[in-house]
This record gives sequence, C-alpha cells and structure tokens, in this order.
Amino acid sequence: MKNTLPILQLAIPTPLRRFFDYLPPKSYDLTQLKPGMRLKVPFGRRELTGIFIRNVETSTVPEGKLKQALAVLDTEPVIPTDILELATKAANYYQHPIGEVLLGILPTELRQGKPLPEITPAEAENENILAETPLSLNPAQADALSHLITFIDHFTVTLLHGVTGSGKTEVYLQAIEHCLKQQKQILVLVPEIGLTPQLLQRFRARFTAPIVAIHSGMTNKSRLTAWLKAKSGEAKIIIGTRSAVFTPLNNLGMIIVDEEHDLSFKQQDGFHYHARDVAILRASQKNIPIVLGSATPSLETLQNARTERYHLKKLPERAGLAMRPTFHLIDVRNQTLEQGLSKELIAAIEQHLKEDNQVMLFLNRRGYAPILLCHSCGWMATCSRCDMRMTWHRKAGYLLCHHCDKQTKVPSQCKQCGGKTLQAAGQGTEQLEETLSFLFPDYPIERIDRDSTRRKGEMEKAFARIQSGEARILTGTQMLAKGHHFPNVTLVAIVDADGGFFSADFRALERMGQQVLQVAGRAGRAEKPGTVMIQTHHPDHPLLYQLLNEGYAAFSDSLLQERAKIILPPFTYFALFRAEANQLEKADAFLKHIRDTIAIKHPIQIMGPIPAPIPRRAGRYRAQLLLQSTTRPALQNTLKKYMPDIENLRSGKKVRWSLDVDPLEIG
Ligand code: ADP
Ligand code: ZN
Ligand code: ZN
Repeated sequence: MKNTLPILQLAIPTPLRRFFDYLPPKSYDLTQLKPGMRLKVPFGRRELTGIFIRNVETSTVPEGKLKQALAVLDTEPVIPTDILELATKAANYYQHPIGEVLLGILPTELRQGKPLPEITPAEAENENILAETPLSLNPAQADALSHLITFIDHFTVTLLHGVTGSGKTEVYLQAIEHCLKQQKQILVLVPEIGLTPQLLQRFRARFTAPIVAIHSGMTNKSRLTAWLKAKSGEAKIIIGTRSAVFTPLNNLGMIIVDEEHDLSFKQQDGFHYHARDVAILRASQKNIPIVLGSATPSLETLQNARTERYHLKKLPERAGLAMRPTFHLIDVRNQTLEQGLSKELIAAIEQHLKEDNQVMLFLNRRGYAPILLCHSCGWMATCSRCDMRMTWHRKAGYLLCHHCDKQTKVPSQCKQCGGKTLQAAGQGTEQLEETLSFLFPDYPIERIDRDSTRRKGEMEKAFARIQSGEARILTGTQMLAKGHHFPNVTLVAIVDADGGFFSADFRALERMGQQVLQVAGRAGRAEKPGTVMIQTHHPDHPLLYQLLNEGYAAFSDSLLQERAKIILPPFTYFALFRAEANQLEKADAFLKHIRDTIAIKHPIQIMGPIPAPIPRRAGRYRAQLLLQSTTRPALQNTLKKYMPDIENLRSGKKVRWSLDVDPLEIG
C-alpha cells in the first residue's frame, strides 16, 4: 500500500527473520537519517532500539496500523555501511534474525540505546612505528612475508602452516609493520581471552602504534572505549576474540586469524557464526589479504589450500634455537598403573624434575573422577536431569553434572543396592594433582582447569607462578595447552590420548591430532630439547603413528582421503536443526514438520530426526535433524526458501530450537 510519508525499514532485535516498518518520528529531518543509525521504537508493550536499514515506499502493514518511531538516537551511523553489509551477509548465510545480529554486534551501551560518546581526535601520527628491532627472518619466514607483501593490495587468503614455535607470530609482526607504514589498520583474531595478554605484550613491545584489545572479559566501558578507538581509526592494531570480527574499522588493511582451527571461533549458541569465515568474507569485501595461521589447520582450510583457493605457506622448522621435540608412545595395555600413570612416565617426570626443568601433564577431564561407582552392584551416579554421569569433585565435596551444572551431595550409599562401598572410577585433573603431590611431594604443582581458575585473577597468578619457575609440575586440561610459551618445560605428557578413538563425532580424530600437537608444542620451546610422552591403549593406531612420525600434513591428508571416501565435510555441507522440549514427542514433531516442509530432494539429503548425542539435558529432551548437500549454494538456497515457513510452524512454538549452518559439533 502506498504511503504518503516515507516508511522506515528497521532491524529490530526479535527472533523473527525480517525487517519492521515504522513511520519516521515527528518533526525529524529525514535527510539526516543514514543506514546504520539507531532509533527508539515501540514494539508490543516495550520500547526497543532498532537499526535503520532503508526507506521504502510501501509496506505490507496497512496504513493506519503503522507505528511511529519515537526518536532517532544518532547523528552518525553506529554501524558503518561496510559492517552493515557484512553482518547482513552473515545473518543470511547463518539464517539468523537480522535484528539480533545487528544489535548483537554493538557494544552493550549502544545496544541499550545510550548515546554514542564523543571521541577526542587521535593524536598526531608517530613517525617511527617500531619500538624494537624485528628479528632477521629465516628463509621460510622471509618467503612467507614476501608473499604476504606481494598481495598486500588484493583479496587473498593465505594459510600459514607452521609448527608451534616456527615463528608465525614474527611473520605476522613484520607483515603488520608493512601495513602500519601505509597507515592502515590491522585486525588480529585470537581464540581465547587467555591468549590476548601475551600477544598484546609482544605487539606492544614491537610497535609504538596504538593497540587495543577487544574481548568479552572486559568491562562494558573499556570495551566501548576500545571499539570507539577502532572505529575512529585511532587504534591501529585491534586484537580480539570471535566477536571482534564485526568491529568497525575505517581503514582496514589486513586480517590475521591466529590458531584458525580453534573451535572457539565458532559461536555455539544464538547466532552460530564462524569468525574465521566471516573474517574471510570481510577481507573479500574490502579487497585485502587475510592470513590464517596454525600449526594444525582445520581440514576445511587444508582442503581449500589443496584446491588452491587459498595460498599455502609453510614454516616447517622451529625458529631460533628450539628443536623439534621427540615423541614417545607408552603402551599402557596390561600395565599396572599408579593412578593412571605408567612406571615409565613416572621415571621420566622424576628425571626431568631432577634436571631442574618443568614438566607438564595434560588430561582433558576436570574434577576428581568422572564416575562414582558402587563396588557391589555396578550402579553409577547419574544426573537426574540429563541421564549423564555425574563427576565427583572431591575437594568441593559434591557431584557435579558437567552438562547442566546440577550439584548434588555425594551419596553415602548406593541408590540401587544400598551398598556402602562407592568408589571413584577414571581420573580427572583433581585426582591427577593429588597423585602427583603424593609421588613428588617436594615439587610445587600448579593445576590449571576451569575449577582452579574460576575466580578472577587466578589464571594470571597461576601462569605467573609457572613463568617464574616457582611451579615445577604443571597439570591441567586443554586450557594449559593453548599458545603459552614456557621455556623451561622439557617434558610434556598426555596422560590419556584415547578419547579421540571412540567418540561418535566424525571430527574426533582431527581434534585428537590437533590437541596432541598443540600440547606437544609446549615442550622444548627454548634452548632445552623437549620430550613428549603419550600414554595410549592404541599404540598401533595407524593415524597416531602417522601423526607422530610423518607430521600433521600427512596425518591430515589421510583424514581428508577418508572424509572424501565417505563423503563428510569438507566434501559435503551440513546444516543442523536442533530442538529441545519437555517431551521428546514435541521436539520430534517439530523436526518432522521441518522435514516435510523441505520438499526439495536432490541434492539435499535429510537425516533424522534422531536423538541428540546427549538426549536429555537439564530436564529437556533433545533431538536433531541434519541437512546435507553436495554443494553450498543448494543448501543455502534451500534454507532461504524454506526458513520463513519453518519459522511459522506451529509445532515450533512448543520447542526451543536453533539452526546451525556448518556445525562443528553435530551434537
Ligand atoms: P609461533 O607463533 O609459530 O609459535 P613465534 O613467532 O612465537 O612462533 O616464535 C617462537 C620463538 O622463536 C619466539 O621466541 C621467537 O622470538 C623466536 N623466533 C621467531 N622467529 C625467529 C627468527 N627469525 N630468529 C630467531 N628467533 C626467532
Ligand atoms: Zn550398588
Ligand atoms: Zn545434568
């Protein structure tokens, strides 16, 4: 219907995948309104902040029913055009409601409708951008750098595949230096907040240019300040975690994604985007280079390098004086273990400690024991809301469900037979720490996992004790494995490498390989040579053998061949609908309706609904439906075509559901 006043199309933070039409606020000069500016609007009984997208002439809303916006909140866009375009593309690709996406990428204050703070103009440019002299590069580093510089004005994706300690960061630094000389900004994405301080330190030591960090561990205020500095162009280097990929930057020259294989780049709830992939989109939109760095690249990225969509640059050797660690498999079959530790490993720990070095033991299971078992009848303590086993946290004195966080008292007797002998089965980091302090009472131990670092500042303190050499035995979960540089660690042990061999997830072996090498990368980072010991029940596993003897490239080649043979990603494309409800039937019914709605068959295949890997969590029943397609466009088109219908399914109102495009965990 034609309207006399222009109609404003806005993105509003609601779960609906569409824009909303409003009339302009009273007496507002519409020539001032630009896409990306915020408006306050009535929405139902609430007032919400929306983002102006465009003017339209007609609306599907009848003329008399159009509501009027209350106020325009900005005099300039809070979301610049390029970010508006990027976020819209991402919202379309991941099929997430545009309003939630656009409001979600804003700093909290701005999302809440608070005014955009004034920014004082940036100080004069510092002529000398270097605060220290760069290292002289080895031939592989020099080759990688000159490649990056050659392509500095074009969109190119380069995979920098370098073993841990091969000097990837030094290559980044020198490529950044090149961009800084051209007055450009550089966006660096890292997986973990924990890694930001270390990287920040290194960047600050190198450059005089303003550097800001952007991550979720910051206060809203400091995050907003960093965001504003980035947007205005004052900050030259922006280091951030996942969500920083949407930071407005007025003069972006290059993007670096460090540890590109890391799972935390993928948002696991709500807007299921992958920051690496959005970063690639952003680089292509800006026609600038992007570097993906990793010692253990994801199979998706490797496949893109194989098909030459990405450039590949390798750094095969450790830089400086550090040498490749030696690997040693320990066959634990038929061995009597001392609380999970073999004699051989215990002897090695002792020796390395006597030589004044640090040792690191890695176990990817927190708590004291993953199972509390009745010795008389075999009953195991399970969570009443999840049907999953409860983990015994002995120090804290409770059983904890790692799936829904339910806590219960430790039972004094078996719930099935009344037997009094309940015992721990399996080992977590808490127990490993106890065992180690019993075996090596003279050496201070530092445990790093989610339990030991819960309180603010604990993690920093623990890492400081490790750096200073005060802690001699380091133990923990994968938190310990990521990125850190501990020069005095000479022995790294993987207490139990077998998890990857019997997981239902097809990516489990890829993850196992990545984890083994990431952990191994902590050994012998400086002049002292490193040893890596791996305890396993599968010492003859061909892929484990290949990983340790031929390296990650050969290992990942084998995995890719296998995936190609059985047609799994990256040789096919997935989208996963997840639904949960208080009854399984409700979740199932909704997913069946989705299945029936999607009428297209070839080349789309639909599997399910089937129960989720954790079929019940926090009292809710969970099921999933998997869409598979041999091409990405076919999958995209199908989703685009049917999502409006799916969104309107009445059975969907009774369940909590989500769609995950390119899911990393199909569980
Ligand atoms: P990565 O990022 O691949 O793990 P880094 O860049 O952190 O590797 O380098 C590992 C170590 O080697 C660091 O201590 C770094 O200072 C040193 N290093 C890197 N490049 C060189 C070089 N060309 N010459 C000497 N030392 C180097
Ligand atoms: Zn019992
Ligand atoms: Zn539970």
